[in-house]
Amino acid sequence: MSCITFFKHVAASTLAFLFLLALPAQAQWQRLPFQTMGTQAYVELWAEDDKLGKDLLLAVQHEFERINQLMSPYIDSSELSLLNRDAASRPVTISNELYQLLQQAEQLAKLSDGAFDISFASVGFSYDYRQHIKPSAAELEAQRSLINYRHIQLLADNQVKFSLPGLKIDLGGIAKGYAVEQAIGLLATAGIKHALVTAGGDTRLLGDKRGRPWQVAIKHPRKEDGIVAQLPLTDSAISTSGDYERFFIEDGVRYHHILDPKSGQSPSGLMSVTVLGPDSTRTDAMSTTLFVMGLKRGIAFIEQQSEFEAIFISSEHQLYFTSGLAQ
Ligand code: ADP
Ligand code: MG
Repeated sequence: MSCITFFKHVAASTLAFLFLLALPAQAQWQRLPFQTMGTQAYVELWAEDDKLGKDLLLAVQHEFERINQLMSPYIDSSELSLLNRDAASRPVTISNELYQLLQQAEQLAKLSDGAFDISFASVGFSYDYRQHIKPSAAELEAQRSLINYRHIQLLADNQVKFSLPGLKIDLGGIAKGYAVEQAIGLLATAGIKHALVTAGGDTRLLGDKRGRPWQVAIKHPRKEDGIVAQLPLTDSAISTSGDYERFFIEDGVRYHHILDPKSGQSPSGLMSVTVLGPDSTRTDAMSTTLFVMGLKRGIAFIEQQSEFEAIFISSEHQLYFTSGLAQ
């Protein structure tokens, strides 16, 4: 090696070294899949600092668990269980957080004329999709009249009273989207600029994927691992409700986890509905709502909601888009 080339070599490696020093500690993508709320969740974020990134992945997982402890119907000590146990006999004081989510649920119940109704659980708790259990015709008839969000009274000072004995509530149609939105809020507050959080059918994107959009797939409702479309998205939320996640088939009838509050039974006109919007609390609840409304009423309804777009897949495998997506 001649003297000059040796010098060049040293200079180049010194430059490279200085360049490395100038970079923040291991900026990189970090990912964590985890189980929560009876479903698979996933967080992916771009962290300028390795340690901070790892801490935030765990903070997201804890946030889901915190919300689950508050809102799960399977946890006896949750505030939701407390309401279902006591709110028919006395006003129950709950956290401001749950109270506000109940207010959001009530807003959508009113707006959708009861298609979204968390008291669907008055019937819903009689189904067990894994065990293929459904209410008898007599049970269904009796419980159906207990579905009525107007009997969920949101009183002053975070107090809630059910004015109909036997009424039960469940937040399965909104809590997961809420948790996803909370997780993204936590990341944004910590200074993260690029992240994706998803749980079950609810996904929220923070920023873009560093220079390009995130790609979010819409599952094929009948082909395991198949996809129907892939959407490039940034800074927004997308939720899908389908008849294929929790269901059983008996005598040719598909019993699935979305119930029409009017009948207490699963609507059959659609296989899936995907909603795009600004936050995952609302896209989650909205996708369940549109599924209940069905194609015709659902499209007419969502076209009125300027912040949302939707993609419907009918039972005949036809795709329908709202006007904002048609191009
Ligand atoms: P997933 O929970 O698979 O993401 P959805 O977002 O569509 O699916 O929510 C379905 C859940 O919503 C059901 O499991 C149930 O807990 C709840 N739900 C079912 N029917 C209604 C309804 N009419 N109004 C409000 N919530 C509902
Ligand atoms: Mg939903």
